[in-house]
Amino acid sequence: MNQSFGAIASNLFRVRQSIAEAAQLAGRKQDEVRLIAVSKTHSYEAVAAASAAGQKDFGESTTQEAVPKISHLAKSSITWHFIGHLQTNKAKFIPGNFSWLHSLDSLGLAHKISQHAREQSAAVNILIEVNVTRDTGKHGVVPEALVDFIEQLIKDDLPALSLRGLMTIGPHAAAEQEIRRCFAKLRELRDECRKRFALPDFTELSMGMSGDYVEAIKEGATMVRVGTAIFGDRDYSRK
Ligand SMILES: *Cc1c(COP(=O)(O)O)cnc(C)c1O
Repeated sequence: MNQSFGAIASNLFRVRQSIAEAAQLAGRKQDEVRLIAVSKTHSYEAVAAASAAGQKDFGESTTQEAVPKISHLAKSSITWHFIGHLQTNKAKFIPGNFSWLHSLDSLGLAHKISQHAREQSAAVNILIEVNVTRDTGKHGVVPEALVDFIEQLIKDDLPALSLRGLMTIGPHAAAEQEIRRCFAKLRELRDECRKRFALPDFTELSMGMSGDYVEAIKEGATMVRVGTAIFGDRDYSRK
């Protein structure tokens, strides 16, 4: 069932409140954590309801679904984040539609996005997806390949892309300790890369979803990607 639009505002309120609590417990400020409302499979009316309730950042994971939604909502001041796996042949849809890409995982994709961004005079903020848990079902760069990957990105000089940090998906149905270990690892990798490559803007950690965003905030998340807790269960049969 889709959440009624009235429930979206109260869900958002609750999620923001628990973000504030988790941040406070971790000795952090609430505004250090950006909430990205993941609206995949939900209608543009649902996005509009969340937007009316003050939500600014939204995440989508396929270009087919997102691009019509983005053009439908072009008048609202929404910042769009692409969070799904992106095939190189879809790279042209990112610049101009999305301010952030959370899932860079190949040099070929970086070059394609950069090329389209330059053609459109658009810039894209880039997060590199890291497969911390080495789950074969997940995309992303494995931790030990990350330094070489960034080194090559810097060497290739792609000025339309701004390297801003790292993203990961936590372990599925794991104990709290294991979840925290995964997120702590991503934080350590960010700190290491930021220092090693002297990238002052390499500050972001996109980690935590409906089931584990509290743990992610305790480990330093600067962006949490929350869908179900805001919009209700996803109904894939509608697609
Ligand atoms: C769908 C999705 C989310 C949101 O998941 P919920 O459990 O509904 O909060 C977050 N990140 C990524 C990469 C996703 O694909």
